[in-house]
Amino acid sequence: MTRISWFADRDGFTAAASGLQDAIVRFDRPIAASSAASGYCTACGRPSEFEVGQGGDHPNLRESLRCRRCGLTTRQRLIHCALAGEAEGRGGALRGALLEKSTRLYRVAHARWPWLTGSEFLGADRVPGRSYWWSTHWWRWRRTRHESITSFSYAAQSLDLLVHSDVLEHVFDTGAALRECARVLRNGGAMLFTVPFAIGNTASILRGRLLPDGSVEHIEPPEYHGDGVRHGGIYTFHTFGWDIVDRLREAGFARVEIGLCHAPREGFTASNPGVAQAWMGLPTLFRATR
Ligand SMILES: [Zn+2]
Repeated sequence: MTRISWFADRDGFTAAASGLQDAIVRFDRPIAASSAASGYCTACGRPSEFEVGQGGDHPNLRESLRCRRCGLTTRQRLIHCALAGEAEGRGGALRGALLEKSTRLYRVAHARWPWLTGSEFLGADRVPGRSYWWSTHWWRWRRTRHESITSFSYAAQSLDLLVHSDVLEHVFDTGAALRECARVLRNGGAMLFTVPFAIGNTASILRGRLLPDGSVEHIEPPEYHGDGVRHGGIYTFHTFGWDIVDRLREAGFARVEIGLCHAPREGFTASNPGVAQAWMGLPTLFRATR
């Protein structure tokens, strides 16, 4: 069973990640050069094949290596793997929220952990906690719960686990979002999340500023990420660096760790194994404990 290694300090994490560069050259590069790799999917709990996505001018295995059985990508399987670790460690029925619902990750995770509540951000004019008819494809309408990471409907200290994947970089006021996340977690509860993370940077990069009239003042060239829900993707305010750890502590999290997972056979590889410092793109996620 693949384990995520958790680090509470930057130096320990950097030493472990950079020490994997040779292994990336040996194991990850051949995977990136192929069209599919056989291995073992931790989400399925059985042998499977991972599809190496083509397209773009460089490999992006973080958003690829889709398992042919469950359909989860590297990033989604990493979240699934971390959730499995928490569910196993804490035991029993937990109270947990995943800030996505229209995704394959939600479907796979909810099938295994029915106590997990799913939601989407459906717009600033919607009421948190309420469900709306919502479609990601014209033929598929579903009742979907709306939640906003800056104003949840969840009561204070009501959750054991809060999970989000590549959400935070799209929210301008990071502090407000993190304080709200801390509010709804009980003491000892944990938030698991991924963000695009610049491992070599101390300071986060602010890419744009939200103005009072709702428009965005661009500081860096605008970046939009596809979220599978909105056409054209959503605007990215932040590229996070290590100061995200301080922001998490300021928001009320007692313990902040960064998890590292390199297991090529299980489909956990560097995102772009061909580059010199490929270790900077290894699968990572954060665990912030209240
Ligand atoms: Zn799978």
